[in-house]
Amino acid sequence: MINKDNITVENLDVTKHSEFKNHEKVFRVSAPEYNFVAFVGVHSTVLGAAEGGIRYKPYDSEDDAITDVLRLSEGMTLKNAGAGLSAGGGKTVVMALDGEPKPSELVLQVLAEGLNRVNEKGVIYFGAQDMNISEENLNYMGAYTRYIKGASSDDPQIVGGTPSPLTAIGVFEAMKQAVAEVYGAGRGFDGLRVSLQGIGSVGGALARLLDREGAVLTGCDIDDEAFAVLRAEGVIVRQVDLDEIYDQPADIFAPNAIGGTISDETAQRLANAGVLIVCGAANNQQKEQVGHKQSKKLQQLGILYCPDFIVNAGGIIWVNQVGMNAETVRERIRTHMPQSLKKIIQLHQKTGEDMGQAAENYSLSVVREAAEKAA
Ligand code: NAD
Repeated sequence: MINKDNITVENLDVTKHSEFKNHEKVFRVSAPEYNFVAFVGVHSTVLGAAEGGIRYKPYDSEDDAITDVLRLSEGMTLKNAGAGLSAGGGKTVVMALDGEPKPSELVLQVLAEGLNRVNEKGVIYFGAQDMNISEENLNYMGAYTRYIKGASSDDPQIVGGTPSPLTAIGVFEAMKQAVAEVYGAGRGFDGLRVSLQGIGSVGGALARLLDREGAVLTGCDIDDEAFAVLRAEGVIVRQVDLDEIYDQPADIFAPNAIGGTISDETAQRLANAGVLIVCGAANNQQKEQVGHKQSKKLQQLGILYCPDFIVNAGGIIWVNQVGMNAETVRERIRTHMPQSLKKIIQLHQKTGEDMGQAAENYSLSVVREAAEKAA
């Protein structure tokens, strides 16, 4: 049992931080006895209780972790608003200790108590799965806090558990919409060449869905085993080296690994390779997200950029709907994602804004309207 008296939750003043975007609250949760430091960012609760994943990873400094939590929690506000959820944006980052790539039970207990304390401070925030936080971790934390979403469900007909398959379904359906926009309605995936950057939980599930529809797949991943797993199921993904993925002749590029891989340089390489659509699950795909520099670059190159936080929201819709009928929520994701992308394409066409900016403006307008109604 942990010593709860040694856990401190402080309200941080981040108003001078370069990433501050009117965040409602940012907390530092610490327990020196356990070398534990985490930050909980609550960007906005205008649309409802804040929801967003818990990330566990090493950071070089506390400022790096604060920078991450500020960016990610703001991103969750945009994602949840774009997905039409009655949920605000929040995120937690836990500073992993050297040599502890996964959280220990002790860390999970401190974290759970930290979430309880944060929720006593006048905001409501629910944590969910993100980097290095598994469904099993949430199951474990469930004994210590009610402020998490996405623990396993005992009944397969009831929503619960890992959101990745639903994120993949959402990306797949949005990609279908993008294909209809670029190649004309009725054009399926048959024969279309898709380059997959990362074939992990989401990328692998996306590969299965695309393979079933006749797409021709090329991929890269730091984990060779990921290709073998798919191959054993009869899903063939031609493997190329990590940096070669941008140069493979392709119609669609799907980033499903890490953020920031689309730079001006890689965008140009994708265009040279014939890519007409960028659509994938990775968060913060643009190297220079502020001002949507690469969204603009892709537009100049004649590539349709499908904004990440619009097309990868299937997972958070699933998490938000915990306890509901699973098939109803799956269907909601299937229908919502293409409609959502279509709305952003229409806004982009109407306003002339690039796709990234159009998506951001849309989400901000949803939050603004809710705030005006509440005033
Ligand atoms: P994952 O860890 O299961 O898969 C990521 C894969 O990318 C792994 O197989 C890894 O080996 C590979 N990889 C890592 N670095 C790479 C690189 N430089 N080049 C190529 N491959 C590399 O993660 P995931 O759950 O599939 O998520 C993938 C991305 O989608 C992440 O950016 C995540 O933040 C984002 N995302 C995931 C969800 C979700 O529901 N899981 C929801 C929204 C957004």
